[in-house]
Amino acid sequence: MKIKDILAQERPSVSFEVFPPRKDAPFEPVKDAVAQLAQERPSFMSVTYGASGNAQANTAAIASFVQACGVPALAHLTCLTATRESIESEADALRRAGIENVLCLRGDLPKDASEPPPGNFSHAVDLVRALHGSGFCLGGACYPECHPDCPHMEDDIRHLREKVEAGLDFVTTQMFFDNNIFYRYLAKLRDHGVTVPVIAGIMPVTNGKQIARICRLSGTYLPSRFKAIVDRYGDHPAAMLDAGVAYATEQIIDLFANGINAVHIYTMNKPEVATRIMSNLHNIIGH
Ligand code: FAD
Repeated sequence: MKIKDILAQERPSVSFEVFPPRKDAPFEPVKDAVAQLAQERPSFMSVTYGASGNAQANTAAIASFVQACGVPALAHLTCLTATRESIESEADALRRAGIENVLCLRGDLPKDASEPPPGNFSHAVDLVRALHGSGFCLGGACYPECHPDCPHMEDDIRHLREKVEAGLDFVTTQMFFDNNIFYRYLAKLRDHGVTVPVIAGIMPVTNGKQIARICRLSGTYLPSRFKAIVDRYGDHPAAMLDAGVAYATEQIIDLFANGINAVHIYTMNKPEVATRIMSNLHNIIGH
């Protein structure tokens, strides 16, 4: 099923994210996690591509397994180090696996590379142009706190609009921990003529110290209420899990209450986190 059709339904959409195994790592633990996540009946599950060292070739295989579990899959695809031929062959592999949805991303350079190989796709918009009209439902990424490479929010939104005009059907946001930042961003997008559905990305934090470091690097704002939780429970995994699930649940309920109909949970192959959040939302989804 195409994600644009899922998002057009009245019922709120809650989706999950998983990452495939790293090169040479076994598939079974990831498949187990996917099968458990599928039991929560998310609207769709997205599968990352090459992020944090996971093997790119495994994205199509895991996306195919997601669909075998009865859940529509969204396959991520990055283009910064790709060639036209490699993109065509990835698209063919996804088609053969029965995948209908692709999240078009630029990706980032590997740590040891200073610049991308010449002649490749420089921005996600180039990938959107390459895949537009190929039958896939296309999504892209957006950044409520501005992409770290872009000095001005206005320019970042202009680039997003260009990406949408090239053929995106929806966009998913980077994680944020203060819903007001998301509401202000959404209003700005609408003012700038970006009218596609915007899926709010929510990260349930279960490792406090790690997230504090990631946020420092990416510039994601940590509200003092959130910082206090990380300071107090960051070294206590069970307590941090309780607090992280509660914080994410609160964010999601606030989003739904304010009319946001699509939430993507960065579940990171952790079924227990998804199960607890979905149980908290049991009487909320559908009202
Ligand atoms: P782009 O849309 O190309 O934007 C990147 C930067 O270039 C921005 O600063 C933008 O303002 C600027 N820009 C865009 N167009 C132009 C233009 N025409 N001229 C000048 N500047 C321009 N990474 C992975 O490796 N694998 C994944 O699976 C993955 N999944 C993700 C999922 C989500 C929801 C998000 C939010 C991010 C994900 N990422 C993933 C990370 C992503 O690859 C990085 O954030 C990357 O730095 C930017 O990707 P993009 O697609 O947003 O790039």
